[in-house]
This record gives sequence, structure tokens and C-alpha cells, in this order.
Amino acid sequence: MAGIKRPRFSATRVIKTIKEICAASQYYPPSLDQFQLAGDELRKYLDLSFARLHIYESKIKQCDYKTQWRMFTYNGQAAFNSFAFPKQGIRANSVLFIAHHDYCAGLGAEDNATSLALMAELARQCTNCRICFASFDLEEPGYKGSAHFVANLSEQEHSMIKIVIDLECLGSGKDLVIANQVGKAISDDELVLDLHAIAKQRGYKFSSASFPCFFADHIPFWQAGFKTAQVTSCDLDHVVTPDMLRAELAFLQAGGVREGGSVVHSKNDLPRFIKKQNLKQIGDVLVEFVKTHFSA
Ligand SMILES: [Zn+2]
Repeated sequence: MAGIKRPRFSATRVIKTIKEICAASQYYPPSLDQFQLAGDELRKYLDLSFARLHIYESKIKQCDYKTQWRMFTYNGQAAFNSFAFPKQGIRANSVLFIAHHDYCAGLGAEDNATSLALMAELARQCTNCRICFASFDLEEPGYKGSAHFVANLSEQEHSMIKIVIDLECLGSGKDLVIANQVGKAISDDELVLDLHAIAKQRGYKFSSASFPCFFADHIPFWQAGFKTAQVTSCDLDHVVTPDMLRAELAFLQAGGVREGGSVVHSKNDLPRFIKKQNLKQIGDVLVEFVKTHFSA
């Protein structure tokens, strides 16, 4: 007897969603280095961010998820986080995937439309699982949205989330990396080993790296005691210092292109530089991870 036909993870559909998100975005010149957003410039930034959120939410809602806005203010302006969970409500021992909808260079295809689109596809693939999603505003100025989200989680929500996986820039680098550390946030050993093991079983090889001078949306979760890890696709398989980051920014602003292909925070952060193969690999691994550990 033929087995039940499940929808297959589709990297093509992820790419299509990335393009839709970028179509709602306006081009930003390369990498705003230090964020001092205020006034009209901030409003425009938040409006573009919201347009991207709207597209992501419309996909998630097609898959039997409810979405809730968690609003906050930043420099006097309204900003929006989005929390999505199964229509029946959040279940105990859930995995939470997180990403951000603001962007600061090019059309923000890699950073971070890749992750929004991947979360929408995970929602489609992982029905009837203990899974939820959050997307944050204002990550680029220093994870303002995620810090607000964590600080305002109810005790019940906090207790129901078992693991948090941060998705950052999944498409353009030479391969996929599971971060052992970002800022002070040390990834959970068991979680990291498990993701590597699933990748290996499928014949994929993910790299490991530590980014002690970066920041990311899962840091406030780690600070609040959650088990966390970050998956990313970048060309950094070594420790990066602040001096190296400054030098790289100057290189990108002068029109330089990274060797491995990562377009993060550069003028080339556009859909055509996203590698479908990276999305396919991380999608396959995360769907299997969820179905193995978080089936309802
Ligand atoms: Zn990002």
C-alpha cells in the first residue's frame, strides 16, 4: 500500500517567497555601519520591515497557524514582532524558530528573507508538530525586537518553549554553519551535535564556527536560560575580531565581493545570489529534526 503522501520540502518555493519579500523591499546602499536611526529615516526603515513581515505572515497563516503581534516602541516609533503558533495553541515542549524581518543592505534577500521564507516552508511541512515561530523587528540596530519579545514572554509561554533555533542568512555563503557561540551565547551541545548528525546522515557536511564579536536574536533567549543554537550560511570558518569586521565593511562599501559568495550586508544582497542548495540542505535537516523530536 502506498504510504501517505507528504508535501516535500521545496527550496523552489522558499526562493519564490524570498523574491516576494524582496519585491516589497526598497534597495538600501551597502551596510549602514552604526545604526542611529531616528525620525523619518526610522519610520521608513520600520515601514519596509513591516511590509516584509506582512508577506511572511500571509504564508504562515495559510498553514493553520495563528499569528500575534507583540508591539513595542523604539525612539518613539511603533515596531512589531510576530509570534506564530498552531491554531490549537502552543504545546508544551515546543521548538521555537526565530528570525528577523528588518534589513539594512541591498534588498535583504540573504539577511534575512532567506530565514523568513524557510520558516514559512517549515510551517507548511511540519503540521501537527510542537513548533512555533517568531520574527523580530530591529535586529540590525542590536536585537531590539528579540530583547523586547523575551522580556515580555508570559511565564506559561516561557515554560512551553524547550529549544530556540536562530536562523540567520541561510543562502549565499559557501556552506552552512552551526554556530558554537555568538556573542556570549554558547550553543547547546546536544542540539548542535544532533543537527550535525542529521546533516551527516543525509550526506551533508555543516561547518562549525564561533562568532564572539557578533550579536544575534537568540542572545536574549540564551540570557533568559533557554537552550539555543544558531544556523547560518557565511564564509567565516574562523574567529573574527572587531578590527577584521571594520576592514571588511570598508572593503564591501568600496564594492568588494567576498570570496565564498556571502552577500550579507553588501550591495549584492539580492535574490540572484542565494544558493538553492543551501536552502535545500538546511530545510531537509530542520524538517527531520522537528519530525524526530517534536511530533505532536
Ligand atoms: Zn540578519
